[in-house]
Amino acid sequence: RTVFLTGATGFIAQNIVKTLIESDYNVVGTVRTEAKGDHLTKLLNSEKFKYEIVPDISVDGAFDEALSKHPEATVLLHTASPFFYDTTDPENDLVLPAIRGTKNIMKAVTKFGKNIERFVITSSDAAIYSAEDEQDATKSFDELSWNNITYEESLTDGVTAYYGAKSFAEKAAWEYIEKTPGFPALTAVNPVYVFGPQAFDSEVKDVLNVSNELINSLIKLGPNDKFEIDKGGFVDVRDVAKAHVLAFEKEETIGKRLFLTNGQFSSQMMIDIINENFPELKGKIPVGEPGTGPEHIKSLGRVDNSKTKQLLGFEFSSLDKIVVDTIKQVLAKKSK
Ligand code: NDP
Repeated sequence: RTVFLTGATGFIAQNIVKTLIESDYNVVGTVRTEAKGDHLTKLLNSEKFKYEIVPDISVDGAFDEALSKHPEATVLLHTASPFFYDTTDPENDLVLPAIRGTKNIMKAVTKFGKNIERFVITSSDAAIYSAEDEQDATKSFDELSWNNITYEESLTDGVTAYYGAKSFAEKAAWEYIEKTPGFPALTAVNPVYVFGPQAFDSEVKDVLNVSNELINSLIKLGPNDKFEIDKGGFVDVRDVAKAHVLAFEKEETIGKRLFLTNGQFSSQMMIDIINENFPELKGKIPVGEPGTGPEHIKSLGRVDNSKTKQLLGFEFSSLDKIVVDTIKQVLAKKSK
């Protein structure tokens, strides 16, 4: 079987492609440039991977040519979407590309994806709650929750724009299948903060992708530096990759949103794990207030993803394992 995957160079996507190839799927990935495609081809080193160039997902007809060349594809994974918060133009940098990218790939499937049976969109917990509601202990969320950010509100700043963009894009996907009879079955994957190793050691950069940089930034601090307490949900990128595969392999996931989380973290929990497991960093990074992490996360909204866990049927990795594996990879790169 051949899987057509958008945004193959991304942190999550590289892990998905690696998992797919290990499971014997052929993969056609879209990348923005030939250089990026060649680089990924070298890393994967497999005849099962091919790439097509799609420089900008938000341009009308962006995917038409790429998909028309691959009638063999039976599965479509749409992961490409801007993920950053730092922008002075939230509408054009975040909101419109997310919505247009989703509509463009769905239109391309209608026109050229005649053998596509399953369509999976990488949405986010950002579509489930707003940044504010996520931090509100009086609120509860599950697979059926949506944030209530309006289009106008989403234009106020980068964070609200990202949260708005993810809900607008996912809603656009559900609306598209409503009005397009015969369109392949749709499943959404909604991960919380995704942490864990890069698919390839060589992809470790000084500054990592947005979510992992939260962990990486902690070991850049000196022993007396203060750090901001970030908190939210966590899930391992390797579990997120597995979930994308099960999302299209299983019948029971059709029409569902898979809310991927294995619990909640605070930066203090991460620094505790790092100090406990990496003696070589002792005294070089802060300790903060060890053991206070569980107090911090009491102020977060309640989440229930038991339906998702039951549907997927595998155990998600612990925060300890995720943080240790992430830092190990970063330190290994530094020692080279
Ligand atoms: P990355 O930034 O690593 O990956 C994003 C991918 O999308 C890259 O391949 C990027 O290409 C591509 N892309 C972005 N904008 C465009 C565009 N306008 N045209 C073409 N390609 C584009 O992020 P992640 O891997 O972390 O995220 C992947 C998906 O997962 C996103 O949909 C994100 O919203 C979602 N997600 C991520 C979470 C996390 O914690 N990491 C949590 C929940 C959801 P290039 O690198 O060449 O710019």
